[in-house]
Amino acid sequence: MKYIDKLIKTNDLSYDEILYLLKNIGDEELEVLRKEAFRLKNKYYKGVFLRGLIEISNYCKCNCRYCGIRRSGKGVSRYRLDKEEILRACENAYNMGLRTFVLQGGEDAYFSDEVLVDIVHSIKERYDVAITLSVGERSYESYKLLKEAGADRYLLRHETADDELYKFLHEDMSLESRKDCLYNLKKLGYQVGAGFMVGLPNQTDEVFAKDLRFLKDLDPQMVGIGPFIATKNTPLENYESGTVDKTILMIILTRLLLPKAMMPATTALATMDKDGRDKALLSGANVVMPNITPERQRKNYRIYENKSSETNIKYLLEKSGFEVNMEKGDYYGW
Ligand code: SAM
Repeated sequence: MKYIDKLIKTNDLSYDEILYLLKNIGDEELEVLRKEAFRLKNKYYKGVFLRGLIEISNYCKCNCRYCGIRRSGKGVSRYRLDKEEILRACENAYNMGLRTFVLQGGEDAYFSDEVLVDIVHSIKERYDVAITLSVGERSYESYKLLKEAGADRYLLRHETADDELYKFLHEDMSLESRKDCLYNLKKLGYQVGAGFMVGLPNQTDEVFAKDLRFLKDLDPQMVGIGPFIATKNTPLENYESGTVDKTILMIILTRLLLPKAMMPATTALATMDKDGRDKALLSGANVVMPNITPERQRKNYRIYENKSSETNIKYLLEKSGFEVNMEKGDYYGW
Protein backbone atom coordinates (compact mmCIF):
# COMPACT_ATOMS: atom_id res chain seq x y z
CA MET A 1 0.00 0.00 0.00
CA LYS A 2 1.04 3.57 -0.76
CA TYR A 3 3.00 5.41 1.94
CA ILE A 4 3.75 2.44 4.21
CA ASP A 5 7.32 2.16 2.89
CA LYS A 6 7.73 5.91 2.95
CA LEU A 7 6.65 6.07 6.58
CA ILE A 8 9.06 3.30 7.57
CA LYS A 9 11.96 4.81 5.61
CA THR A 10 11.53 8.50 6.47
CA ASN A 11 9.43 8.54 9.69
CA ASP A 12 7.47 11.35 8.12
CA LEU A 13 4.31 11.80 6.08
CA SER A 14 2.32 14.85 4.99
CA TYR A 15 -1.20 15.51 6.27
CA ASP A 16 -2.69 14.10 3.03
CA GLU A 17 -0.52 10.99 3.18
CA ILE A 18 -1.46 10.32 6.81
CA LEU A 19 -5.12 10.77 5.92
CA TYR A 20 -4.83 8.33 2.99
CA LEU A 21 -3.21 5.80 5.28
CA LEU A 22 -5.90 6.18 7.96
CA LYS A 23 -8.66 5.66 5.43
CA ASN A 24 -7.11 2.68 3.66
CA ILE A 25 -4.98 0.69 6.07
CA GLY A 26 -5.81 -3.03 6.33
CA ASP A 27 -4.94 -5.67 8.92
CA GLU A 28 -1.79 -6.89 7.16
CA GLU A 29 -0.31 -3.43 6.76
CA LEU A 30 -1.20 -2.65 10.36
CA GLU A 31 0.77 -5.68 11.54
CA VAL A 32 3.78 -4.58 9.47
CA LEU A 33 3.64 -1.14 11.12
CA ARG A 34 3.10 -2.60 14.60
CA LYS A 35 6.24 -4.72 14.25
CA GLU A 36 8.19 -1.71 13.03
CA ALA A 37 6.88 0.40 15.95
CA PHE A 38 8.00 -2.27 18.42
CA ARG A 39 11.40 -2.55 16.71
CA LEU A 40 11.92 1.22 16.83
CA LYS A 41 11.00 1.41 20.51
CA ASN A 42 13.54 -1.33 21.26
CA LYS A 43 16.18 0.41 19.16
CA TYR A 44 16.15 3.42 21.52
CA TYR A 45 14.91 2.11 24.86
CA LYS A 46 15.49 -0.93 27.04
CA GLY A 47 12.41 -2.28 28.75
CA VAL A 48 9.38 -0.48 30.16
CA PHE A 49 9.89 2.62 32.31
CA LEU A 50 7.80 3.18 35.43
CA ARG A 51 6.63 6.61 36.65
CA GLY A 52 4.95 7.09 40.03
CA LEU A 53 1.76 9.09 39.52
CA ILE A 54 0.58 11.30 42.40
CA GLU A 55 -2.79 12.95 41.86
CA ILE A 56 -2.34 16.05 43.95
CA SER A 57 -5.76 17.71 43.55
CA ASN A 58 -9.13 17.15 41.94
CA TYR A 59 -10.18 20.79 42.25
CA CYS A 60 -10.24 22.30 38.77
CA LYS A 61 -11.16 25.68 37.36
CA CYS A 62 -11.62 24.19 33.88
CA ASN A 63 -14.88 22.78 32.62
CA CYS A 64 -13.77 20.28 29.96
CA ARG A 65 -16.92 18.55 28.76
CA TYR A 66 -15.43 15.04 28.95
CA CYS A 67 -13.79 15.21 32.36
CA GLY A 68 -15.14 13.72 35.60
CA ILE A 69 -13.43 16.37 37.78
CA ARG A 70 -14.63 19.37 35.72
CA ARG A 71 -15.47 22.56 37.60
CA SER A 72 -19.24 22.13 37.50
CA GLY A 73 -19.16 18.34 38.05
CA LYS A 74 -21.71 17.38 40.69
CA GLY A 75 -21.08 14.74 43.30
CA VAL A 76 -17.29 14.98 43.14
CA SER A 77 -15.75 14.74 46.56
CA ARG A 78 -12.98 17.31 46.25
CA TYR A 79 -9.56 16.91 47.88
CA ARG A 80 -6.07 18.25 47.61
CA LEU A 81 -2.87 16.82 49.07
CA ASP A 82 -0.71 19.05 51.21
CA LYS A 83 3.06 19.16 51.04
CA GLU A 84 3.53 16.54 53.78
CA GLU A 85 1.17 14.09 52.06
CA ILE A 86 2.96 14.57 48.76
CA LEU A 87 6.37 14.06 50.36
CA ARG A 88 5.12 10.91 52.08
CA ALA A 89 3.87 9.54 48.76
CA CYS A 90 7.29 10.34 47.26
CA GLU A 91 9.03 8.50 50.05
CA ASN A 92 6.90 5.40 49.48
CA ALA A 93 7.51 5.64 45.76
CA TYR A 94 11.27 6.02 46.24
CA ASN A 95 11.33 2.99 48.51
CA MET A 96 9.46 1.04 45.82
CA GLY A 97 12.34 1.90 43.48
CA LEU A 98 10.53 4.52 41.39
CA ARG A 99 12.80 7.29 40.06
CA THR A 100 10.27 9.56 38.32
CA PHE A 101 7.43 11.22 40.20
CA VAL A 102 4.56 12.71 38.23
CA LEU A 103 2.56 15.37 40.09
CA GLN A 104 -0.74 15.65 38.28
CA GLY A 105 -3.90 17.55 39.12
CA GLY A 106 -6.70 19.84 38.11
CA GLU A 107 -6.01 23.54 37.68
CA ASP A 108 -6.24 24.36 41.38
CA ALA A 109 -5.39 27.92 42.49
CA TYR A 110 -4.16 26.55 45.83
CA PHE A 111 -1.06 25.32 43.97
CA SER A 112 0.33 28.80 43.40
CA ASP A 113 3.87 29.20 42.10
CA GLU A 114 5.08 29.67 45.65
CA VAL A 115 3.45 26.46 46.94
CA LEU A 116 4.46 24.33 43.96
CA VAL A 117 8.03 25.67 43.79
CA ASP A 118 8.47 24.79 47.46
CA ILE A 119 7.17 21.25 46.89
CA VAL A 120 9.32 20.64 43.80
CA HIS A 121 12.36 22.05 45.55
CA SER A 122 11.80 19.89 48.66
CA ILE A 123 11.45 16.70 46.59
CA LYS A 124 14.63 17.47 44.64
CA GLU A 125 16.50 18.17 47.87
CA ARG A 126 15.62 14.74 49.22
CA TYR A 127 15.79 12.48 46.17
CA ASP A 128 17.78 12.01 43.00
CA VAL A 129 14.72 11.64 40.79
CA ALA A 130 13.06 13.22 37.78
CA ILE A 131 9.99 15.34 38.47
CA THR A 132 7.20 15.60 35.94
CA LEU A 133 4.48 18.18 36.45
CA SER A 134 1.02 18.00 34.89
CA VAL A 135 -1.06 20.80 36.32
CA GLY A 136 -2.41 22.45 33.21
CA GLU A 137 -1.95 25.81 31.57
CA ARG A 138 0.22 28.37 33.36
CA SER A 139 2.15 31.47 32.35
CA TYR A 140 5.64 31.40 30.85
CA GLU A 141 6.93 32.97 34.07
CA SER A 142 5.31 30.24 36.17
CA TYR A 143 6.75 27.43 34.03
CA LYS A 144 10.15 29.16 34.31
CA LEU A 145 10.02 29.29 38.13
CA LEU A 146 9.02 25.63 38.31
CA LYS A 147 11.83 24.65 35.96
CA GLU A 148 14.32 26.56 38.07
CA ALA A 149 12.99 24.81 41.18
CA GLY A 150 13.91 21.48 39.60
CA ALA A 151 10.99 20.26 37.48
CA ASP A 152 12.33 18.24 34.56
CA ARG A 153 9.31 17.35 32.48
CA TYR A 154 5.77 18.61 31.85
CA LEU A 155 2.72 16.77 30.53
CA LEU A 156 0.07 18.84 28.81
CA ARG A 157 -1.93 16.93 26.25
CA HIS A 158 -3.14 19.13 23.42
CA GLU A 159 -6.34 16.94 23.62
CA THR A 160 -7.26 17.54 19.95
CA ALA A 161 -5.53 19.57 17.25
CA ASP A 162 -8.83 20.47 15.57
CA ASP A 163 -9.98 24.00 16.39
CA GLU A 164 -13.69 23.35 16.12
CA LEU A 165 -13.61 20.15 18.18
CA TYR A 166 -11.35 21.83 20.74
CA LYS A 167 -13.90 24.64 21.15
CA PHE A 168 -16.78 22.17 21.51
CA LEU A 169 -14.92 20.32 24.26
CA HIS A 170 -13.48 23.25 26.18
CA GLU A 171 -15.62 26.26 26.91
CA ASP A 172 -13.55 29.32 27.79
CA MET A 173 -10.27 27.74 26.61
CA SER A 174 -8.46 27.88 23.28
CA LEU A 175 -6.32 25.52 21.27
CA GLU A 176 -4.01 28.41 20.48
CA SER A 177 -3.25 29.02 24.15
CA ARG A 178 -2.74 25.27 24.73
CA LYS A 179 -0.22 25.18 21.88
CA ASP A 180 1.50 28.35 23.17
CA CYS A 181 1.99 26.62 26.52
CA LEU A 182 3.55 23.59 24.83
CA TYR A 183 5.96 25.76 22.82
CA ASN A 184 6.82 27.79 25.96
CA LEU A 185 7.60 24.59 27.85
CA LYS A 186 9.87 23.45 25.03
CA LYS A 187 11.64 26.79 24.98
CA LEU A 188 12.30 26.54 28.71
CA GLY A 189 14.05 23.20 28.27
CA TYR A 190 11.45 20.85 29.73
CA GLN A 191 10.96 17.38 28.32
CA VAL A 192 7.46 18.03 27.05
CA GLY A 193 4.51 15.69 26.71
CA ALA A 194 1.62 16.36 24.35
CA GLY A 195 -1.10 13.94 23.29
CA PHE A 196 -4.77 13.38 22.61
CA MET A 197 -7.84 11.30 23.34
CA VAL A 198 -9.15 8.80 20.82
CA GLY A 199 -12.85 8.41 20.03
CA LEU A 200 -14.10 11.88 20.93
CA PRO A 201 -17.42 12.94 19.38
CA ASN A 202 -16.98 14.04 15.74
CA GLN A 203 -13.35 12.93 15.67
CA THR A 204 -12.98 12.01 12.02
CA ASP A 205 -9.88 10.66 10.28
CA GLU A 206 -9.26 14.25 9.17
CA VAL A 207 -9.02 15.23 12.86
CA PHE A 208 -6.67 12.32 13.64
CA ALA A 209 -4.46 13.32 10.70
CA LYS A 210 -4.25 16.83 12.20
CA ASP A 211 -3.31 15.37 15.60
CA LEU A 212 -0.54 13.24 14.15
CA ARG A 213 0.77 16.06 11.98
CA PHE A 214 0.72 18.47 14.95
CA LEU A 215 2.76 15.98 17.00
CA LYS A 216 5.30 15.60 14.21
CA ASP A 217 5.69 19.40 13.98
CA LEU A 218 5.87 19.96 17.75
CA ASP A 219 8.33 17.06 18.16
CA PRO A 220 7.62 16.49 21.88
CA GLN A 221 9.70 14.15 24.04
CA MET A 222 6.60 12.39 25.39
CA VAL A 223 3.20 11.56 23.91
CA GLY A 224 0.16 10.37 25.88
CA ILE A 225 -2.61 8.79 23.84
CA GLY A 226 -5.63 7.16 25.46
CA PRO A 227 -9.23 6.32 24.59
CA PHE A 228 -11.93 8.84 25.47
CA ILE A 229 -14.13 7.27 28.15
CA ALA A 230 -17.71 8.58 28.29
CA THR A 231 -18.21 9.50 31.93
CA LYS A 232 -21.32 9.87 34.09
CA ASN A 233 -22.30 13.35 35.23
CA THR A 234 -20.46 14.99 32.36
CA PRO A 235 -22.12 16.51 29.27
CA LEU A 236 -20.64 13.67 27.19
CA GLU A 237 -22.00 10.84 29.34
CA ASN A 238 -24.25 9.50 26.58
CA TYR A 239 -21.65 9.47 23.82
CA GLU A 240 -19.76 6.36 22.68
CA SER A 241 -16.33 5.81 24.22
CA GLY A 242 -13.25 5.37 22.07
CA THR A 243 -11.98 1.92 21.13
CA VAL A 244 -8.81 0.09 22.08
CA ASP A 245 -8.05 -0.78 18.44
CA LYS A 246 -8.15 2.81 17.24
CA THR A 247 -6.02 3.91 20.19
CA ILE A 248 -3.44 1.25 19.38
CA LEU A 249 -3.38 2.40 15.76
CA MET A 250 -2.61 5.96 16.93
CA ILE A 251 0.18 4.71 19.21
CA ILE A 252 1.73 2.76 16.33
CA LEU A 253 1.60 5.72 13.94
CA THR A 254 2.99 8.07 16.58
CA ARG A 255 5.94 5.75 17.24
CA LEU A 256 6.59 5.66 13.50
CA LEU A 257 6.47 9.47 13.24
CA LEU A 258 8.40 10.14 16.47
CA PRO A 259 10.71 7.13 16.92
CA LYS A 260 12.30 8.37 20.17
CA ALA A 261 9.17 9.57 21.98
CA MET A 262 8.42 8.30 25.49
CA MET A 263 4.90 6.88 25.25
CA PRO A 264 2.80 5.55 28.12
CA ALA A 265 0.45 2.63 27.90
CA THR A 266 -2.24 4.77 29.48
CA THR A 267 -4.44 3.98 32.46
CA ALA A 268 -7.48 4.65 30.25
CA LEU A 269 -6.43 1.76 27.98
CA ALA A 270 -5.96 -0.56 30.94
CA THR A 271 -9.39 0.53 32.18
CA MET A 272 -11.12 -0.41 28.90
CA ASP A 273 -9.41 -3.72 28.29
CA LYS A 274 -7.52 -5.96 30.70
CA ASP A 275 -4.98 -6.60 27.94
CA GLY A 276 -4.93 -2.94 26.85
CA ARG A 277 -1.64 -2.17 28.54
CA ASP A 278 0.17 -5.19 27.06
CA LYS A 279 -1.22 -4.44 23.60
CA ALA A 280 0.10 -0.88 23.79
CA LEU A 281 3.53 -2.06 24.98
CA LEU A 282 3.74 -4.40 21.99
CA SER A 283 2.83 -1.52 19.68
CA GLY A 284 5.49 1.04 20.56
CA ALA A 285 4.51 2.32 24.04
CA ASN A 286 7.32 2.09 26.63
CA VAL A 287 6.09 3.71 29.85
CA VAL A 288 3.63 2.67 32.58
CA MET A 289 2.50 5.00 35.35
CA PRO A 290 1.56 3.18 38.56
CA ASN A 291 -0.70 5.28 40.76
CA ILE A 292 0.92 6.13 44.08
CA THR A 293 -1.72 8.61 45.28
CA PRO A 294 -2.58 7.91 48.94
CA GLU A 295 -5.36 5.28 49.02
CA ARG A 296 -7.80 7.53 50.87
CA GLN A 297 -7.94 10.13 48.05
CA ARG A 298 -7.34 7.88 45.05
CA LYS A 299 -10.99 6.95 44.62
CA ASN A 300 -11.93 10.64 44.28
CA TYR A 301 -9.65 11.40 41.34
CA ARG A 302 -12.19 9.95 39.01
CA ILE A 303 -11.70 11.64 35.63
CA TYR A 304 -13.60 8.62 34.29
CA GLU A 305 -15.33 5.65 35.92
CA ASN A 306 -13.88 2.26 36.94
CA LYS A 307 -10.41 3.77 36.64
CA SER A 308 -7.83 1.00 36.75
CA SER A 309 -5.53 1.29 39.73
CA GLU A 310 -3.11 -1.60 40.00
CA THR A 311 -0.21 -1.07 42.33
CA ASN A 312 1.53 -4.39 41.61
CA ILE A 313 2.33 -3.29 38.07
CA LYS A 314 5.98 -4.36 38.12
CA TYR A 315 4.95 -7.93 38.92
CA LEU A 316 2.20 -7.90 36.28
CA LEU A 317 4.53 -6.55 33.60
CA GLU A 318 7.18 -9.16 34.35
CA LYS A 319 4.54 -11.87 34.32
CA SER A 320 3.58 -10.73 30.82
CA GLY A 321 7.22 -11.05 29.75
CA PHE A 322 8.22 -7.39 29.75
CA GLU A 323 11.50 -6.20 31.20
CA VAL A 324 11.00 -3.37 33.70
CA ASN A 325 13.50 -0.49 33.65
CA MET A 326 13.74 1.29 37.02
CA GLU A 327 16.00 4.13 35.82
CA LYS A 328 14.83 7.76 35.59
CA GLY A 329 14.21 7.21 31.92
CA ASP A 330 14.98 10.48 30.20
CA TYR A 331 14.28 11.01 26.52
CA TYR A 332 16.90 9.35 24.29
CA GLY A 333 20.06 11.47 24.14
CA TRP A 334 18.81 13.98 26.73
N1 SAM B 1 -5.19 19.51 34.41
C1 SAM B 1 -4.10 18.87 33.76
C2 SAM B 1 -4.17 19.09 32.27
O1 SAM B 1 -5.08 19.75 31.82
O2 SAM B 1 -3.26 18.67 31.57
C3 SAM B 1 -3.95 17.41 34.09
C4 SAM B 1 -5.14 16.66 34.59
S1 SAM B 1 -6.23 16.10 33.28
C5 SAM B 1 -7.53 15.37 34.23
C6 SAM B 1 -5.33 14.72 32.62
C7 SAM B 1 -5.86 14.13 31.32
O3 SAM B 1 -6.99 13.34 31.58
C8 SAM B 1 -6.30 15.09 30.27
O4 SAM B 1 -5.22 15.55 29.52
C9 SAM B 1 -7.31 14.25 29.45
O5 SAM B 1 -6.79 13.86 28.20
C10 SAM B 1 -7.59 13.04 30.33
N2 SAM B 1 -9.03 12.81 30.52
C11 SAM B 1 -9.90 13.58 31.18
N3 SAM B 1 -11.16 13.08 31.08
C12 SAM B 1 -11.06 11.95 30.34
C13 SAM B 1 -12.01 11.00 29.86
N4 SAM B 1 -13.30 11.11 30.13
N5 SAM B 1 -11.57 9.97 29.12
C14 SAM B 1 -10.25 9.84 28.85
N6 SAM B 1 -9.30 10.72 29.26
C15 SAM B 1 -9.70 11.77 29.98
